[in-house]
This record gives sequence, C-alpha cells and structure tokens, in this order.
Amino acid sequence: MIQMKKKSLALFALFFIFVAAFANGKKDLSVKKSSDKSFSYDKSGLVIKSPANESDTVQIAVIATSDLHGHIYSWDYAVDSPLNGSGFAQTDSIVKGIKEKYKENLLIDVGDLMQENSSELFNDCDIHPMIQALNFLNYDAWILGNHEFNYGLDFLEKNILGFEGRVISSNIKYADSGKNFVLPYQIYEIQGVRLAVIGCTPTQVTTWEGSTPEHFQNLNFISPMDSVKKTIKSIEGQYDVLVGAFHISREGEFEDEGKGGAFQIAKACPELDLILAGHEHAVYCTEVNGTWVLEPGKFGSHVALATLDLKKKNGKWRLLK
Ligand SMILES: [Zn+2]
Repeated sequence: MIQMKKKSLALFALFFIFVAAFANGKKDLSVKKSSDKSFSYDKSGLVIKSPANESDTVQIAVIATSDLHGHIYSWDYAVDSPLNGSGFAQTDSIVKGIKEKYKENLLIDVGDLMQENSSELFNDCDIHPMIQALNFLNYDAWILGNHEFNYGLDFLEKNILGFEGRVISSNIKYADSGKNFVLPYQIYEIQGVRLAVIGCTPTQVTTWEGSTPEHFQNLNFISPMDSVKKTIKSIEGQYDVLVGAFHISREGEFEDEGKGGAFQIAKACPELDLILAGHEHAVYCTEVNGTWVLEPGKFGSHVALATLDLKKKNGKWRLLK
C-alpha cells in the first residue's frame, strides 16, 4: 500500500516537549566545530534497527518528509501569521501515528531542511533547531538538499556531525581525493531484511552557490544518474530492498532536464524498489517502470508513506509487489 497522508490541523505543540527535553539536560548538544581540513564523516557500517526473528514475513513502513525549509511550527515568521498544514510539530503527530501502526519503519528526510522562515537566525547554534528536530523525532536518515549549502561548509559540517542518524548523498565527492563527502548509501537491517538507501543532491549547487564558491570548496557534484548507477553496482548482493532518496525533481533540470530526474533514474535502474523524491515541492505518488516514486510537498505539508510487504523464500527476502 502506498499513500500520502494529509495532515490534520488539531495537533499538539512540540514546543513544550522541546523545552522539557533541553531543560532536563539529557541531550548533549555540544558539537566540535570542524574546519574544512579536519572534517570527515566517519559514521559507517550496518545499522540494525531490529533483530531478525523466526518469522518469514515482515512489513516495513518507509516514511519520508522533504523540503521543510525552516518550518518547525505552523507559523510563517515573514508575515507573522499561522501557516496551517506546515511544520515538524504537525509532522511529528502524523509520523507517530504511522509508527504506532507499523512497528518496523524507517524515517527519512529528503533534504532542504534549511533556509526560509527566518531559520537562519539560529545558524549560530551548535546544532541548528531543524537538526535538533530531526534528532528529537528519531529520523534515521537525512539526505542533503541544495539549500543545505547556502550558509557555508562550517555551518553544514557542524550540523552533519550533530545529526544522530546517517547523512547520505552519493554524488558529492571531494575534488582532490575523490572520496565521498558523506555516505553514498546506508544499509539498515530490519528483522533480517537489509534495506539500502541511496541519496543524491542536485548538481546545480555549484551554479546556485556560484557567487560564494567557498560554500562548496573542494567538492564536486557528479551526475545523480551516474552516481546512483555506480552505487547500486557497488552494493550488489548486499541488500534485499533498494530505496532511492533523491533531492531532485521528476524530470531533472537545466543540463539534466529529461535525462537526470527521478523518473529517468527509475527507468534506468530497475533495481530500485522505491524512490522518495524532493526538491520540486510537489505532491505526487506514481509508478514509473514498476518503481513507485513519491514526493511529500513542502514545509511539512505531507508525509510520504510506502509500506513494503516482504516474504522469505528459500532463505531470501522478496518484496511482494
Ligand atoms: Zn526546497
């Protein structure tokens, strides 16, 4: 079952929970600020979400948000008025409901968390409130969007280190070493099912940040199509379910238009079981070449939900279409 959940309006105020969480001092919010040279993202290895058991069936809910753009509460700070149907506070109650129904789940944000709604006023925080929100809501993965690069690498790196889940994008490489800036993919094990998530970020960061090249110093953004294909090949045999989490539009744009979008990647990479997209601020849920592609709008207006039913046959997990 694949569906998009529209938010209801009567939801609780996360603010008080945030205040309580920070006031009791349980969370260590201190993060070492890194310089360009010392930054390295060394989280790696399998993440075991839940142990395998005897059952030969499992249902996993893959839940996604995208393009929150600084919206924690349902409020537009530019005009100082409510913005109904927006914000993490509402997302949280939707996600909680889904998690109650589907005990095995994975929660992903597909990028552009930062920028807009006066959220830059908090850029000096050790960990930006949007990342604190991801941590508070127990997100498993954060895919880097283009707007994550708006405020420079020091800002981005301290927030990457401050996120408690995994930061994923397969197509951002160091120009000098060719190494990945963050994780190209992450494999999560859920009741013995190995679910791989591959991320990607728009290559146009270098154009959009062209007036401030220090915002992507020593980084190359390679074609999502190429990086996804290469990453899939590199993890052949290591996963049971393959999820693309792409901060790119359906059809691609500029030099990638018509050849590097989520739909084209779906057509070119039949190994992908599901694609969670972002960047376009659109709401859609459609099947392309046998792969479901979903995008959950903007500012937290929607939550994307894909439920995956799997059955073990001859020792191998198979996704029931
Ligand atoms: Zn966006």
